[in-house]
Amino acid sequence: MVKAIFPGSFDPIHYGHIDIALRAAQLFDEVVVAVYDRPLKHLIFSPEERIALVEEAFRGHPRISVMGYSGLTVEFCHQIGAQVIVRGLRVFSDFENEFRMALANRRLAPDIEMVMLITNEEHTFLSSTTVREIASLGGDVSTMVPPHVAEALEARFAQMSESQQWSHMKSLRD
Ligand code: ADP
Repeated sequence: MVKAIFPGSFDPIHYGHIDIALRAAQLFDEVVVAVYDRPLKHLIFSPEERIALVEEAFRGHPRISVMGYSGLTVEFCHQIGAQVIVRGLRVFSDFENEFRMALANRRLAPDIEMVMLITNEEHTFLSSTTVREIASLGGDVSTMVPPHVAEALEARFAQMSESQQWSHMKSLRD
């Protein structure tokens, strides 16, 4: 049995992520969508909120589960007995990052294999940053995220604009 993890920040989860996880579930017996608790990024959702949004996206799927984690991704793989790390690739710059990370991970844990899945054409431009930016300006993200995520974004930005937090968060990277 091959168990894979699909790790990421998922701030928030969008259709590009969902597509990769669903395709991974056709390749592996079990896929754990692993929500990293503290990436070096500014986040708008807490780890618990991001996990809840991911759980809702895959509710009822027989081979996809969701877990939060902290620390090294390869350590998390060892803890839960996963042999594969799945990542998604959109543009060439993703490849450079993933290539570096894959080599570093192999140095740390040669027993873990990294598998990259190329995005579907329609999701090439899609990133959590783009989704957050559009949602923060009141744009329509319904083709980019499931309805429950769109609702969570609307509520979060309404809350943030009341407390005027958004002005500090213009330069986000994905
Ligand atoms: P991270 O902080 O680890 O990059 P993200 O949540 O931004 O976390 O992304 C998680 C994974 O999903 C990464 O492998 C990323 O390349 C992939 N990904 C993000 N957007 C897309 C997309 N539109 N199509 C395919 N893969 C994607």
